[in-house]
Amino acid sequence: MERKTVELIVPSYNEEACVELFYEAVRSLFSEQLKAYDFRLIYVDDGSSDGTLQKVKHIAAAAPEGQVHYISFSRNLGKEAAIYAGLEHSAGDFVAVMDADLQHPPALLIDMLHAIEEEGYDSCGARREDRKGEGAVKRIFSAAYYHIVNQMTTVELTPGSTDFRLMSRQMVNEVLKLTERERFTKGIFSWVGFKTKWIPYHNVERAAGRSKWSIRGLIHYAASGLLSFAKAPLRFAIWIGFFALLFAFVDFILLVVQGCRYGMLPEAVQVAVLLLLLFGGLTVLLLGLVGEYLARILAETKQRPLYIMKESNYGESDR
Ligand code: UDP
Ligand code: MG
Repeated sequence: MERKTVELIVPSYNEEACVELFYEAVRSLFSEQLKAYDFRLIYVDDGSSDGTLQKVKHIAAAAPEGQVHYISFSRNLGKEAAIYAGLEHSAGDFVAVMDADLQHPPALLIDMLHAIEEEGYDSCGARREDRKGEGAVKRIFSAAYYHIVNQMTTVELTPGSTDFRLMSRQMVNEVLKLTERERFTKGIFSWVGFKTKWIPYHNVERAAGRSKWSIRGLIHYAASGLLSFAKAPLRFAIWIGFFALLFAFVDFILLVVQGCRYGMLPEAVQVAVLLLLLFGGLTVLLLGLVGEYLARILAETKQRPLYIMKESNYGESDR
């Protein structure tokens, strides 16, 4: 039987302390529990300013021919870009995205492969069961964030889900068809569909080095997730405008009733409030409408595929 290849994509930004540890951990896994499979590594050096690239070149030179590849960016472009570059260069039967710092335990690959090969899933991801070592504030924000995204968008994010996930070749090919610039990978993996199994695991401290996330980075990441998949913020403007106009209308009726029944002329303040509601409401409503057009333009420029096919009985020759 032909041996299948598991390919691991490792975004690495200033991970000189980790890349060798990572390689050793993976190699020992594939020489024991997973020896039925071949493995390949793609290190994506995301513009590191330390010795990451040198270390990776060293690993590649010492490893068997073709086992370790690397891609090095001209500058720090972010983990999302690194993941895309890795997926684009991948050719394995199964492809996983993994952090370099060993916070994604390689041993989980055993169950992940089982899920895809034996249980009929297309993809299998790791879900953190606890957030040990993380502050309460981060925990609360993260829980609230998942809730909001799931309410406001069409994609479903699993709470605690990480970027560590093994995918079938077919799913990777579909993910690559989403060529948008501002990439929110978690949302994209969910958007393409397919059957995903989630395996829980306990949070692991990073093997060495420091986390690259800053508060600013996290806020940007969260906003990117919402803006890439949600139209709700735009709808919000339309609703506000609508209610302001409704109030203006009610106010107007009250003033008319006041005038006709009791012969009271409206006071200047009342007129001012009416005009404010009227024009304020109109402005916000129109802004919301413009936003709707913008959202459509945005969707078009993303050039997402119109559909994603998993199976069909069309043969290659019928197309
Ligand atoms: N990473 C990257 N580019 C960046 C930031 C991070 O490729 O701009 C990589 C990093 O090297 C690591 C993974 O993304 O392999 C996760 O980063 P980190 O461990 O700092 O995040 P945390 O685990 O703290 O959420
Ligand atoms: Mg980490």
